[in-house]
Amino acid sequence: MSTLSITNLHVQVATNDGPKPILKGVDLTVGSGQVHAIMGPNGSGKSTLAYAIAGHPDYEITDGQVLLDGVDLLELSVDERARAGLFLAMQYPVEVPGVSVASFLRTAKTALDGQAPKVRQWVGQVDEAMQRLRMDPSFAQRDVNTGFSGGEKKRFEILQMELLRPRFAVLDETDSGLDVDALRIVSEGVNRLHEESDAGFVVITHYTRILRYITPDFVHVLVDGRVAEEGGPDLAERLENEGYDRFLA
Ligand code: ADP
Ligand code: MG
Ligand code: MG
Repeated sequence: MSTLSITNLHVQVATNDGPKPILKGVDLTVGSGQVHAIMGPNGSGKSTLAYAIAGHPDYEITDGQVLLDGVDLLELSVDERARAGLFLAMQYPVEVPGVSVASFLRTAKTALDGQAPKVRQWVGQVDEAMQRLRMDPSFAQRDVNTGFSGGEKKRFEILQMELLRPRFAVLDETDSGLDVDALRIVSEGVNRLHEESDAGFVVITHYTRILRYITPDFVHVLVDGRVAEEGGPDLAERLENEGYDRFLA
């Protein structure tokens, strides 16, 4: 059993007009095997929460704590956070020209484990995972995210998650820009890891659509940098019908 616990998190970003507070005291506790959905209108701070947990340098923590089994993640480098078991699927995955998908995955796995994976076994695992995500084998030789469609980028995020098997996965709008087939494939990837491991998930989404495929145990609504409401899966259904209007002044 592991716990990712976020307490009173305050985060600001640097802008041309000076520092801008984005998160204004967020509390969230995620246990192993749990699926938490973070929902909310655009600009409410959902990606900021993901970046702050993952250690993006543009997001300055001004107060609060992020602990993974008591270990202060905020004191760790991005790499150390990954080794502690944290994984972030980004809303806008970055292109890495000159680095192939295969080489990127092997490097990430080696960095996580502290030793290179056994070649044949690893290649088999990568092939299998790509097949499950309906990715063409030729993908392995392409440069990371370079010229990928939106759906291909999201599938590649899930491929990384499935192969690296984190203790906690934060998925930032992995559903946005996906057609229904891709949405189902991506959701199946999440559900597989959920069934096969005791990972905990933070599924960040603007829309309720992905929550038809991934059933959250808890739903948290983020509005203007604060959790405005929390509940079970029924809260997602209510938001589907009512939208975010009642949260917005
Ligand atoms: P969400 O993911 O919920 O749409 P974000 O966390 O991306 O929201 O953004 C929250 C607010 O912070 C927005 O007003 C956004 O413009 C602002 N913001 C986020 N990152 C930056 C940044 N690097 N520079 C300036 N403003 C930012
Ligand atoms: Mg569950
Ligand atoms: Mg966002």
